[in-house]
Amino acid sequence: MRKIVCSYVPPHIIDHIARVSGKSPDGAGAAQRTALAGQLLRDARRAPLGGAADLGAALHTPQPGKGERVIFDDGHQWQLSTSPIRGEDDPPTKLKNANLAYDGLGSTREFYRKELGRDSLDNAGLTLQGHVDFGADFNNAFWDGTEMVFGNGDGQIFKDFTGDVDVIGHELTHGVTQYTAGLQYSDQPGALNEATSDIFGVCVEQFSKNLDAGTFNWLIGEDVMADGLYGEAIRSMAHPGTAYDNPLMGKDPQAADMSQYVPGGDPHVNSGIVNRVFYLVATDLGTFPAAKLWYATLQNLWPTADFAAAADVCAQMARILARDGVIGRQGAQTVRAAFHEVGII
Ligand SMILES: [Zn+2]
Repeated sequence: MRKIVCSYVPPHIIDHIARVSGKSPDGAGAAQRTALAGQLLRDARRAPLGGAADLGAALHTPQPGKGERVIFDDGHQWQLSTSPIRGEDDPPTKLKNANLAYDGLGSTREFYRKELGRDSLDNAGLTLQGHVDFGADFNNAFWDGTEMVFGNGDGQIFKDFTGDVDVIGHELTHGVTQYTAGLQYSDQPGALNEATSDIFGVCVEQFSKNLDAGTFNWLIGEDVMADGLYGEAIRSMAHPGTAYDNPLMGKDPQAADMSQYVPGGDPHVNSGIVNRVFYLVATDLGTFPAAKLWYATLQNLWPTADFAAAADVCAQMARILARDGVIGRQGAQTVRAAFHEVGII
């Protein structure tokens, strides 16, 4: 099985921060260390086998289980071979971020179980592992194919990444995609993969906060912005390309429709097109019916599926789910209108 390493804060933002903050000693250290750590992680995972295509074989295969949670304290070291500090049903620890990670893993597990009938990431009770206090001032969080890793942020650009449940929902959903459609992490399949993580990430947030399409802000990552970036976010699903515009992060380059599509571009950029489709569908059908529809779509996609294939499968699933009363009767029309609005069909 192919494994994916997705960093929550995408490379184009981290690179911009590293470039800009090179001039101001204040944030420079953390951003540059983050860029470096990301590179080291990529290199470390590729090195043993000599290529990204072989990435999966380098990692151990997680075992099915009871969907239990385990949180590890990395103690500000740049490594993951650390000890667990909280397991399922254990009382809270002294580390606030460890407890937030534990709760966020739980919200994600419960969203999948209650709304989508899925038993953990692999639908076989895979143990959910989370690492907190990874590295020093690490401005990112990632899923490495087997576990979730959270940085503390440097407190100036980003805050601790356990502070926004959509971070957790996003990263763990890369695991779900890995076990279902197995979408390749490049070009359109990569953008579908990224969008799926944003889609279920915000579904987890709405699930855990009792919100729905009409009461949610459709922003990704707004709660990990430190005070200097208050009001900014990493992505906007309603209006891709408008999440941020400031000297430190640059301007949000996300595509909102096919006129802005970047052929072969970063999945985090082109995912905006699919994110907006989901926003439009959820606004009409409700977030959780729309989630069931996207989940059915994901289960019927394949590793090289492109946007047109997703539109086709999603419309087919909408007809079936509308017939069965899972989504509104207008579901198929809603789906076609949404994919049409962004220029995919
Ligand atoms: Zn991602």
